[in-house]
Amino acid sequence: MRTSQFFFTTLKEAPADAEVISQKMMLRAGYIKRAAAGIYTWMPLGLRVLRKVENVVREEMNQAGALELLMPAVQPAELWQESGRWEQYGPELLRFKDRHQREFVIGPTHEEVITDVVRRDVKSYRQLPIHLYQVQTKFRDEIRPRFGVMRGREFLMKDGYSFHSSFDDLKREYGNMYDTYSRIFTRLGLKFRAVAADTGSIGGTGSHEFHVLADSGEDDIAFCPDSDYAANVELAEALAPARSRMAAAKALEKTHTPGKMACADVAKFLELPLGQIVKSIAVISEKEDSKQTFALLLLRGDHELNEIKASKIAAINPFRFATEEEVIAHLGCKPGFIGPVGIDREKVAVFADRSVAVMSDFVCGANEAGYHMTGVNFGRDLPEPEIFDLRNVVAGDPSPDGKGMLDICRGIEVGHIFQLRQKYAQALGCSYLDESGKSQVMEMGCYGIGVSRIVGAAIEQGNDEKGIVLPAAIAPFEVCIVPMGYHKSEAVKAAADQLYADLKKGGFDVVLDDRNERPGVMFADMELIGIPHRVVIGERGLKDGQFEYKGRRDAEATMIAQSDIVATLQ
Ligand code: ATP
Ligand code: MG
Ligand code: MG
Ligand code: MG
Repeated sequence: MRTSQFFFTTLKEAPADAEVISQKMMLRAGYIKRAAAGIYTWMPLGLRVLRKVENVVREEMNQAGALELLMPAVQPAELWQESGRWEQYGPELLRFKDRHQREFVIGPTHEEVITDVVRRDVKSYRQLPIHLYQVQTKFRDEIRPRFGVMRGREFLMKDGYSFHSSFDDLKREYGNMYDTYSRIFTRLGLKFRAVAADTGSIGGTGSHEFHVLADSGEDDIAFCPDSDYAANVELAEALAPARSRMAAAKALEKTHTPGKMACADVAKFLELPLGQIVKSIAVISEKEDSKQTFALLLLRGDHELNEIKASKIAAINPFRFATEEEVIAHLGCKPGFIGPVGIDREKVAVFADRSVAVMSDFVCGANEAGYHMTGVNFGRDLPEPEIFDLRNVVAGDPSPDGKGMLDICRGIEVGHIFQLRQKYAQALGCSYLDESGKSQVMEMGCYGIGVSRIVGAAIEQGNDEKGIVLPAAIAPFEVCIVPMGYHKSEAVKAAADQLYADLKKGGFDVVLDDRNERPGVMFADMELIGIPHRVVIGERGLKDGQFEYKGRRDAEATMIAQSDIVATLQ
């Protein structure tokens, strides 16, 4: 490629609202242009990177025996009603009606569609196992799209789904995908860690996330440097030693007032989808058999719901719901003075970005009749709330495998593999005939990779004050040729054109900067956009038969004989 024939624009400054480094750099380098919140155009330069990531993913998936297909982005509501997710999914699911008033969604994920395909075409155990995948645009109406392409609303995902006649075979394929994902992220040149992950509301046994390690990551990862234990803190908390949990309970007990906790925890315990607005949540502490625990209360006047949640929580945690009497006693309110009330009840929200559930507007007060509101004020009728960090796992906690102490780092979730078991196959009636002719429900796995998120994550790991630093495997070009005076010196032009031809012939992805620009501009642009290797051609060097070579991370350039340059780059 010659820059004179390419289209790219770079910026000196990133837009003021860009929050993280990769977002700033991608905008400055002209990889992407923002169209709306969380929605971007991939410009030719950025698209080269995206496609390289995509191709590595595709090659490894094919190598692992999966088959590519392409499902529709628009999906009929009926499938989501069948699986039950039409009700469960919440506002992240973008729903719309066509001209005939039929309901549709723009797919945030494709379990329903693929299960529908397989239930129609796969009838016999002889056709199993099968693993189908696609690389496709997804839409999730994220409550807070941010960090550029890392939390977009429209984004590119590789999603694969495998179907099996036995759980053992699902586990085999799950292992195959674990290894495949490790190969993919290694080939992409990323520092990553596979961590045990929470299976959330789906239940089941196995789930791992793959995280690119970066301080800007939204997830906390607990890992043990002395063993291979690593888990998303969401999961590690469920296994956390009592000590840290007790400390959190103690902190809460000091005030006996509503506090804050990580939204992911709230969502998990309440089994609410992230992003769901709930009316009021109170977090209280209590003493029970001299053992301190703390309890969550969802004040919705919805006793049935409370009971269901309470039993689920009790099964996995020493948490439980307090009865209304307990809360009343705790808060020192008169009986009857508790209810789903608040000055601004809609302000209590579970945010999708793991920040906090806001509870500061929780106000207690109601009349005997039940749950009518009175104008009770926080600060006046109840103490001002404090903010607590209720994360239960802290660095220094013992590792659950007993092999050392835990450390905590931040990660960006770039992949997620999941043993779905029979959740969707059951709901949609996806079955096959076994060897004895008996109908059996299939076992299912699903495997996602955030292709567009990877580009942002790679830049979070690879950048310096000059711009983007990408591994050659995914850089927009591997090598740039920067001639000093392409339009002035015949010798420079001839040498640059010759090297360009040689490198292309040698299979290099090379760009020749033949713009009539000052050297400083060309250097700065090539550094900003993240080209790993630079060859400068100048008249002086040519006289000695030399080019000037500089790796993107090198402090100094070195002179290399013209005849050695191709070998140097290999
Ligand atoms: P997150 O926890 O970051 O919201 P998720 O767990 O909801 O992600 P999955 O349903 O596991 O995401 O989807 C598979 C992969 O798709 C994720 O591992 C991630 O890499 C990517 N992904 C999910 N949401 C987004 C998004 N809003 N923008 C870009 N990539 C995303
Ligand atoms: Mg999500
Ligand atoms: Mg996640
Ligand atoms: Mg996930």
